[in-house]
Amino acid sequence: MEQYFIGVDLGSTASKVAVFSNQSLKTYFTIPTCFDMTIQAKHIIDTLAAQSISTEQSVFTATGYGRISFPLATKAVTEITCHAKGAWYLTAQNCTVLDIGGQDTKVIALENGTVNHFYMNDKCSAGTGRFLDIMARTMGITISELFELATLGTPLPISSMCTVFAESEVISHIGAGAKREDVACGIIASVAEKAAQLAARCSDYPYLLTGGLSQTPYFLTQLSKLLDAPVTTHALAQYAGAIGAALVAQTSS
Ligand code: ADP
Repeated sequence: MEQYFIGVDLGSTASKVAVFSNQSLKTYFTIPTCFDMTIQAKHIIDTLAAQSISTEQSVFTATGYGRISFPLATKAVTEITCHAKGAWYLTAQNCTVLDIGGQDTKVIALENGTVNHFYMNDKCSAGTGRFLDIMARTMGITISELFELATLGTPLPISSMCTVFAESEVISHIGAGAKREDVACGIIASVAEKAAQLAARCSDYPYLLTGGLSQTPYFLTQLSKLLDAPVTTHALAQYAGAIGAALVAQTSS
């Protein structure tokens, strides 16, 4: 029976799964995170079974906020370690990994495949994906629509550092008849500015954006302008954490 090494990145909004066998990435997928890890494990087993992947002989490693309570995992590893391993697998080059997740933002100096140093914002939702989710909801649109609108606007200032007050600012702008595209543009600029402030602390290497915002070209361009440096990504950058976790499973078995 084929043996699989499965990395599960249990994020605050989405769970990313990467499956390795015979030293190569076989498949990957994303499912929404639910707050019962036993149910989440069943969803993952079912999705794997639908791809004819038996979990009987599989080795699971978990990362992300839900890693401690994920019942299938024999190992739980921090996101910093997994994102670094995953980013190295994807790029094989020294880089500054900027991961903007639903709940936190991390910046990791990745040197010769290991973490040289890192900084993290996990105290404040401003500058994270959650800020965008809340603001999109306030505007009654999806996150994809928020980005589409933003490309048409010029940024209105959203000056508050607190998400709750920033939401009031957005509501005031809308109430005052501001153009929706300008409000959307201001919302994205606010997250990009906060992420760039953190990223600027770690400017030794070219930037690689991972996480849920990485497949949004508009966001990459905004970050690049603010940092005055190229910001690239990879088609699988959302899976960096899951890939890193799978690699841990593979090497520790
Ligand atoms: P987590 O691991 O905490 O679930 P992710 O790295 O998956 O976080 O990022 C989730 C964030 O990505 C969401 O909070 C949202 O802001 C952003 N996001 C999700 N879908 C999209 C999209 N289609 N376009 C742009 N951003 C998105």
